[in-house]
Amino acid sequence: MPNIQEKDLLADKLNAFIIPVDQVAHVQPSNSLEHALLVLVKSGYTAIPVLGSNNKLHGIISKARILDSILGIERMEPERLNNFLVSDVMAEDFITVQENSTFEKVMSLSIQYPFVCVEDENHAFAGIITRSKILANINGYLHDLRRARSVDNS
Ligand code: AMP
Repeated sequence: MPNIQEKDLLADKLNAFIIPVDQVAHVQPSNSLEHALLVLVKSGYTAIPVLGSNNKLHGIISKARILDSILGIERMEPERLNNFLVSDVMAEDFITVQENSTFEKVMSLSIQYPFVCVEDENHAFAGIITRSKILANINGYLHDLRRARSVDNS
């Protein structure tokens, strides 16, 4: 095992942190907003990727965007859930990183985004890296470092 004091956390490879595509809750651009809201509520996630054919990433759909789209002047208008498709409402200004990118890049993106989408070499969606995975890695590293330092000082 490499010496923790010589480890470069920021250069860590991403493979160990990726939640692979088959474990990522997602919807398709042609799904109704009602379907997307059901998936979001059932999964408990705030936002999930929108994937088309061949796992191409089209956008991100969130509870906030869906609720905003059914907001009337004086009340919520849930009957509008079936008037829109996911593609009408999803955010398209998403950020992706390549599978061979570094922990440093994903860590700084995670300050702004709760999860970062990862693409493979063919630009197909490979999975996501969540803020909790990033924090767990930093937490593990800092504890190992403290343990190693206290051994050195004893
Ligand atoms: P976390 O850091 O674990 O709280 O996850 C941050 C966000 O990533 C969640 O709120 C979801 O939007 C998204 N997320 C986490 N795990 C999944 C998953 N398995 N499928 C889809 N989205 C996920």
